[in-house]
This record gives sequence, structure tokens and C-alpha cells, in this order.
Amino acid sequence: MAHNPNEFTVRGACPHDCPDTCALVTTVVDGKAVRVAGNPAHRHTDGALCTKVSRYPERTHHPERILAPLRRTGPKGSGRFEPIGWDEALDDIAARLKDIAARNPQAIVPYSYAGTMGQVQSEGMAARFFNRLGASFLDRTICAAAGGEALVHTLGGKLGMKVEHFAEAKLILIWGSNSIASNLHFWRLAQQAKRDGARLVCIDPRRSETADKCHEHIALRPGTDAALALALMHELIRNDWLDHDYIARHTLGWEQLRERALQWPPERAAEVCGIPVEQIERLARDYGTTKPAAIRLNYGMQRVRGGGNAVRAIACLPALTGAWRHRAGGLLLSASGHFPVDRAALHRPDLLAGRTPRTINMVTIGDDLLRESSPAFGPKIEALIVYNSNPVAVAPESPKVVAGFAREDLFTVVLEHFMTDTADHADIVLPATTQLEHWDIHTSYGHTDVLLNRPAVAPVGQARPNTEVFRQLARRMGFDEPCFADDDETLCRQTFGDRVDFQQLLDQGFATLPVPEAPFAEGGFPTPSGKCEFFSARLAAQGLDGLPDHVPNHELAGSDPRHPLAMISPPARNFLNSSFVNVKSLRDIEGEPLLEISAADAAPRGIADGDVVRVFNDRGSYRCTARLSTRAREGVVNGLGIWWRKLGLDGSNVNELTSQKLTDLGRAPVFYDCLVQVEKG
Ligand code: SF4
Repeated sequence: MAHNPNEFTVRGACPHDCPDTCALVTTVVDGKAVRVAGNPAHRHTDGALCTKVSRYPERTHHPERILAPLRRTGPKGSGRFEPIGWDEALDDIAARLKDIAARNPQAIVPYSYAGTMGQVQSEGMAARFFNRLGASFLDRTICAAAGGEALVHTLGGKLGMKVEHFAEAKLILIWGSNSIASNLHFWRLAQQAKRDGARLVCIDPRRSETADKCHEHIALRPGTDAALALALMHELIRNDWLDHDYIARHTLGWEQLRERALQWPPERAAEVCGIPVEQIERLARDYGTTKPAAIRLNYGMQRVRGGGNAVRAIACLPALTGAWRHRAGGLLLSASGHFPVDRAALHRPDLLAGRTPRTINMVTIGDDLLRESSPAFGPKIEALIVYNSNPVAVAPESPKVVAGFAREDLFTVVLEHFMTDTADHADIVLPATTQLEHWDIHTSYGHTDVLLNRPAVAPVGQARPNTEVFRQLARRMGFDEPCFADDDETLCRQTFGDRVDFQQLLDQGFATLPVPEAPFAEGGFPTPSGKCEFFSARLAAQGLDGLPDHVPNHELAGSDPRHPLAMISPPARNFLNSSFVNVKSLRDIEGEPLLEISAADAAPRGIADGDVVRVFNDRGSYRCTARLSTRAREGVVNGLGIWWRKLGLDGSNVNELTSQKLTDLGRAPVFYDCLVQVEKG
């Protein structure tokens, strides 16, 4: 068959909030992306993508893409807009921002997260713009801050095992992760280890698809992971399954931790976690006696009040057994600390020129949008610029978030691909390019390769990259520093400077960082002491507990008779947070918003499989369909997320119920620390 001269392939990177950061190969025919596949030359991707991103052409060329700038014509949230030209939109935005900035630029707040993980289209040009403007800082805490801070205070950074070595482990604890759904390429390595005789244990309140495939599932109560980790320590001590030499040479605070752990016999932890004593004893024996033993921790288990302490407790385990000595031993939560991003060059904090704006925590945007000016808070928020995020759907305690976004005196600009719940509340919506239409460069939190993303197709409609929007706004605001003229390829080059071979990225699409095979085999933790810090003097200096401990949930199971069920809200398998919910083929697989409930909890409430139920607490009420399922343990319901509000029954989603309370470390959200009641209806 004759080759179509208008057919070619382009190498790229998956931009989504997933540890795998896959290398993509996009096939373009006659200017349209027709296929997106995994790059077989990239060992971590190994030619395979998840179902979601395999549908990328459907997402990029989706009939509902926003094709032109839009101005609101109806009430906020109504979704009524009219198209306008780019110049008109940008002139209007710049005029509004100038007016507010003349009074106080901190009344302007950027709101962004990991809608794209690319360094350039996330904060590349945006940070320069907001720094120059003197806008409020945004504390980007919504996903990983509790666990990240815990790692920093224990290991010294977001560092850990190289993912490829999990294939050689003999015991793998998959802790707080549904890897099949959200860390697929790690799961392939775990499967390889399993074929070679490794034992897999899944620790998760939900019996996930991953739990189904492990040798054992430990369905502990949400928010009790630290209690389990402390009991494991207790058993390691009691049975002397310790590496005394490693502890003596490479850890700090052993005697204090020992004393703490000895307060946690398995019987006590079993009571707190709601699991059998024997299960804890067996897990401790497995962990203490199997070498190499590896822990794949993920962010699910840190979305509770004590999430930071839980990660600290678990992160102590490999140092107790000396698991770090082996390249297939240790722990991985995030590898992102290995990447030498030159943030000073990319984000240009020097443009602040000595100013220190106040910080808004993205988790409490609901409360903060409803606050008046005060000496403690600073100016009332007058403008929000939202990019790479859909806060109306994903931020906790939606009733307040929606009320805030509905404020008529709030000026809201949203850069988006689709009319999300947040875009519906904008004054101006700007059409953004997808990953197939722009340049970007990527770190990863699940492996240690840098990836380059080249545009494969021209921008769809009038879409523009985020960088171009901030460049154009900067020009209109009179920001004439030369850095606002940097193009996207230049921004890609500036991200790592000469720390990564850019030519190699251009030639093959990825470059591997020189990370040691077993990073802590000989200690060398990048903490102040150079050791794994069981005791953190830095935390103690903040008035916090220097040792990890079990910190009970804000909303403790059994503490509120009106709301007796604990609810977690893990992502539905075919969505990624709120991305992909509008991709019809994926939504068809998911069907409808579901609440998984155990038969034991459904029966006394007269709930049958498929019934519409009302899930409620004092914050709000949410209707969805009940799925009687062994995936839910007794006392815990699983509200699968994150559906767009407008696609759910009654135009709401599970965040109607979650709270704006924060974690012990990292000022992060507590999505899985939430008590509810469920009734038919
Ligand atoms: S979402 Fe994850 S698994 Fe899917 S293509 Fe992207 S990086 Fe790979």
C-alpha cells in the first residue's frame, strides 16, 4: 500500500497526574491525531498506555472542545456564553487585573494543579506572570503535600527506590494504591515479581481491583495506617527482625522510636484498624523475614488527618530492617525529588522584587472565596485565574466552593479544553491546547526519566497554550522583562539547563537521570543529619511531635451516631480525578456515579443493589446509585469520583460531603476522613 505523505508520528509525553509519565507516539494523518500509543523504546512505558490515554485522539478532537474565547452571558454556573475574539478577551482580562492590582495585587489568585504535569504548560510562564504581578501565592496542596512533607522529614526528600527494581522484590506491600487503575506500569513490574515468587500484599480500606490480584488484602479502616505501621515495628522489635548495623549507622532517634513502637502491640493496632491480630502478625513476619522487601506507597492513605504521620511511620520501616541495602528493597512514594528542575530560571521568583504575597491554600478555596478583607486574611479575593484544574468539581466541601464561584463580584478566568463545572462559573473562558498541540517537558513521580513533548497537531480551533495566554497578558499589563518573550522550546530548555542533555530529548524523546541503583544502601539521606530521621528535630522545633504517631481522624468512626459510616472517595477506574469524565467511551464504561456499600451496611438501611441513595452529612447531601459490593468493608462506603457535578444526579458530586479540614503535615486535604449517613432515596 502506498505511504500517505501526510502521515507521520510524533513523540510526546503523557501529561496526566499519574506516576507512570508514559512516553507517547502519536500518529497524525492529514493534520489529525488518529492514534496515540506507548513508545516501545521507553522502557517504563514499554509500548503500553492505560485505557484512558489510549483514547487521547477522542479527547483532543472531541466535538465539545472549546474552540474560541467565550464571555459569560447568563448567571454564573448557567453555562451561557458567547464567543468573542482573542484580543477582546485578553484586553478585557488585562484591564480588570490592572484595576484590581492597582488596589492590591494579592486580591488576584492563581488556581492551578496537575491538569497537566508539564513543567512549561503548568507554571512555566504562569509563575513568571503572577510573580511579576505580585498576586497571592497558591499553596498547591490538594494531592501530595502531606506525604511529600513526611518524606522530606524522614528521608530528606521525595526520593526512593527506582521503580524498575520492584520486579526483583520478594515481598511487595502495595499500600494505599489501586495500582491497576492508577500506576499500571508499576503493576506490570509487580506481576513480574509475582511470577518470580514474590508475595504481594495490598493494604487499602477498599477491596480494589489491585487487592483482588494480590495474595492478601488488609482492609484496614481509613486513617489507621500509622497504627498498623507502629504495630509492625513492635513486632520487628519483639522478634528482633532488625538490622542493628543499619539502624546504628544510618538512622536518628532509634531509642525514642523504639519506645513509641513498643506502645503498639498488634492487639491495640488491630482494635484501631479493625483487622485481625493474626493479619498484623503475619504481615510483620513477612516484612521482617523476606528479603528484599519493597513498599509501594501511594497517596490514598495520606488523605486523612494523620496522613503525614502515617507516611512518616511507614517510611521508617525500610531503615529498621535494612531493606534499603538492596536495590529491590526500600520504599517508593514519589521519585520527583530526583529531578534537578531549575525553578529559579523557570519561575523567576526574582520578579517578586522583594514582595512576599500572602498564601491561599487551594484546599480551603471554598472558605477563602467567601471571606471578607481582614488584617489576618488580607484583601478579599476579587479575581481568580484557573488553569489545569477544575476546583468546582474537585475541591472539598463543594457547597461552599460553588457559593464562592457564584459570587457576582468575583472576576473568574478559566483556561480549559471543555466546559467543566468550573468553566461554567467563569466570566471569560479561554480555549487551551491539549498535550498533542503544544511543547512541554516532564518530570515524573513514578520513575526517573525526563520526557519531552512535541506538538503533534496544530491547535484545535483557536486554542492557545497556557504559556501564550500569560505571554499576551504580560504584554498587555506592561511587563516588559525579556523573559516574557521566551518561546515554549526555550522554556523547555531552561527547565533543566545543562543538567539534562536536551539534544538527547530531541533525538529520542526521553533521557534517564543518573540515579543510584540503591540510593540509601550506604545511608546518605539528604536530611540535616544525613540519616533516616525517625526523630525529626525540624518537626519538634515547630512544636510538633518529632516522632511518627497514630493521629486519629478528624471524623473518627463511631464518634457521631448521626453519621456512622466512614466514606472514602477513590477515583473511578476510567477517570483521572475529573479528567476524562466527558470522554463518552470511558464514561460509558463507568456508567453512573456509584457508592459502593457492603451488604452488612446496606441491609439494615433497606438498600438493594442499584437503588438510588442519598449520602449526607452536615456539609451536604449527594444522590447516586448504590452498588452492593465486597469492595466496601463494613462501616466504610466508597464514593467513586470524581464525576463532573453536572453529569451527576441533582448536579452534584461526592465532594458535596468532604471537608476543608487539613492534615497534620503539609496543610493538605482530608478527602478520606469523612463521616456520612446513607439512606434510600
Ligand atoms: S495516565 Fe498514566 S498510565 Fe495512562 S498514559 Fe498517562 S502516564 Fe501512562
